[in-house]
Order: sequence, then C-alpha cells, then structure tokens
Amino acid sequence: MADTSLDLTLDAAALTAQLVDFPSESGTEKPLADAIEAALRGLPHLTVDRHGNNVIARTDLGRAERVILAGHIDTVPIADNVPSRLDADGVLWGCGTCDMKSGVAVQLRIAATVPAPNRDLTFVFYDNEEVAADLNGLGHVAEAHPEWLAGDFAVLLEPSDGEVEGGCQGTLRVLLRTKGERAHSARAWMGSNAIHAAAPVLARLASYEPRRPVIDGLEYREGLNAVGISGGVAGNVIPDECVVTVNFRYAPDRTEQEAVAHVHEVFADCGVEEFVVDDHSPGALPGLSQPAAAAFIEAVGGTPRPKYGWTDVSRFSALGVPAVNYGPGNPHLAHRRDERVETAKILAGEERLRNWLTA
Ligand SMILES: [Zn+2]
Repeated sequence: MADTSLDLTLDAAALTAQLVDFPSESGTEKPLADAIEAALRGLPHLTVDRHGNNVIARTDLGRAERVILAGHIDTVPIADNVPSRLDADGVLWGCGTCDMKSGVAVQLRIAATVPAPNRDLTFVFYDNEEVAADLNGLGHVAEAHPEWLAGDFAVLLEPSDGEVEGGCQGTLRVLLRTKGERAHSARAWMGSNAIHAAAPVLARLASYEPRRPVIDGLEYREGLNAVGISGGVAGNVIPDECVVTVNFRYAPDRTEQEAVAHVHEVFADCGVEEFVVDDHSPGALPGLSQPAAAAFIEAVGGTPRPKYGWTDVSRFSALGVPAVNYGPGNPHLAHRRDERVETAKILAGEERLRNWLTA
C-alpha cells in the first residue's frame, strides 16, 4: 500500500472504496487496524483502546444510554476482485464491499461526524470474523475487556440490505453414531450392519416437522437436517460403524441446553449408540421490545426480519446487550466473486444512523 491512511472526510461510499482497496483477509488485518486506530485517535471526542487487531473507541458524554456500533474488518479471501470498481449505475464492486466494509465505512463516518451524539457511542472494529469462532476478535475482546462492550443496545453493521434483522438462530452440530459388528459380507449373518442401523435416524429426520415460532413479532424457521453421513470399511466387509452428522438450526427461544435435549429426544429410540455435540453456537433473542431497540427501529423504519443464520449478535446477547444486524449490503452478495453494494444504500444507512443519533 502506498497510502496507508484513511480519509474520514470522504462520504461513506467513497470511504468504502478506500477500505476495499486496503486488503484485509482474515489474519492480515493489522495494517487496516493500524489505519483505523490512527484515524480514530485523530478525533478528540473519542477515547480509543486496542486489543490485538481490535480497535474500540467511545464517547463519554454521560448520556442516559450507550449504543454500540460494531463491525468486522476482515474479509474472505480476495477473488481477483480488489481493487474496487465503481460502475456508472453507482454500484461498487469488490471483495468486502458488501460484507462488510460498507458497514465499517458507515461506522467510521458516524465516529468522525457525530461528536455530540444523543446517546453515548462505542465503536467496535474487530478481526477474524470470517474464520473459526475461537479466533473471532469480538470474542477475544469480550473475554479480555468485557467492560469495553458494555451498552444498552448494539447494532452490527453486517449486510442486511438496509433492513433491521433481529436476533439470530442457534446452530448445533451433533454426531450420531450407530454401531454393529464386522463380518465378511459373504457371511453377513455373522455380523451386524451399522449403516443399516442408521435407517431409523434417517427416517426420523425425513419426517421431522420443524417449528416456526414467533418471537417479538418475528417468525423464525427451525431446521433439523443430516449434513453428512459416513460409514463403511471395505467392499467385502459388513460395517461396524456409521456416523450421521446432524445440524439443528433453532429459534432463540431455546437455550443451548434445551436445543441439545431436543435433539436427544428426537433420536431417543433410534438405536443411536453415541451422541456427540461437535459444534454449538447459541441463538440470540431479538430483544426488539427493549426501549433502545424500539427507538432504533422507529428511527430507521422498515419492518424487522428474523435472522436465520448465526451472527455475532449472539455474542452481544450473551453479554446481556440486545443486538440487531443493520447494514447496507445485500447478504446474498456476500463472499461472492461478484460481491458488490449499491452506494446509494451506503449513503442512506449513514444518514439514517446519523438522524437517529442526533435527533
Ligand atoms: Zn460479515
């Protein structure tokens, strides 16, 4: 990079382009974190802290409420789509345009241009969101400095197409192991077939009817699906083991424990010999009826939608901070080679947030 400083006097659309042209694939965020820290330290109304490649800035005006604006600064691997390109229709193309440097640009613009917000603000810029959960910078900050993330309400500027997405579903991956006894397949009666033993598990999955609960006015859609199956020893051997990998996407009215108990219950009489929780991230309640969230929705307009996937709103929820996703990108365009964002949506997002925080 020839120029490693960010220009916060640019509007959020132009700043998005500058951020996209500053590559920051997961694990390589340091130069961008340095630039963000330097830019924020130049703003006298903010106190700036740093933990690793995570930068946190806040106002301390003694306001009645504190709002967190958070975003990850990393991207998925670049796919010949950097530097950015702005076309004649006002669409900005490039890695991270949608997920989520447009959101980060909005955060930076609010930080630079709203020195006396009506609510105290905390800006969180974190690394390693697009990779394994244990590397996630927001998780590291929550562990090392939970007080930095204190607040009444959090907005994650992840792509949500300019609509408010409340809460998120939990995701649980379970390995269901059936067992049998090996034998030569010419004398199958001498053994017992673990793959056949998985049949009741598959039948149960095929007939499972997922719930569609309504929480805070949002309808969630659960799902229980096999996402993998493995078994078999050799072409002439009766297999003694089969593993069905099941993914349960569940609405946030279930706790982690309840989700595990539910999956246990579903497969209780299916002959499963071993039940292993392989991966688990809890959901987050939308919390849209809380005053800070309700005021936000009123200010930015639109009809909130549920989030079916898992996002970091769940980390805020675990800290007792209700959180929503609200960002300019279209989530369907994230992580694609043809990733792009409409610059008009970036500018609209900046304006709505500014209006909400200065009203
Ligand atoms: Zn993202």
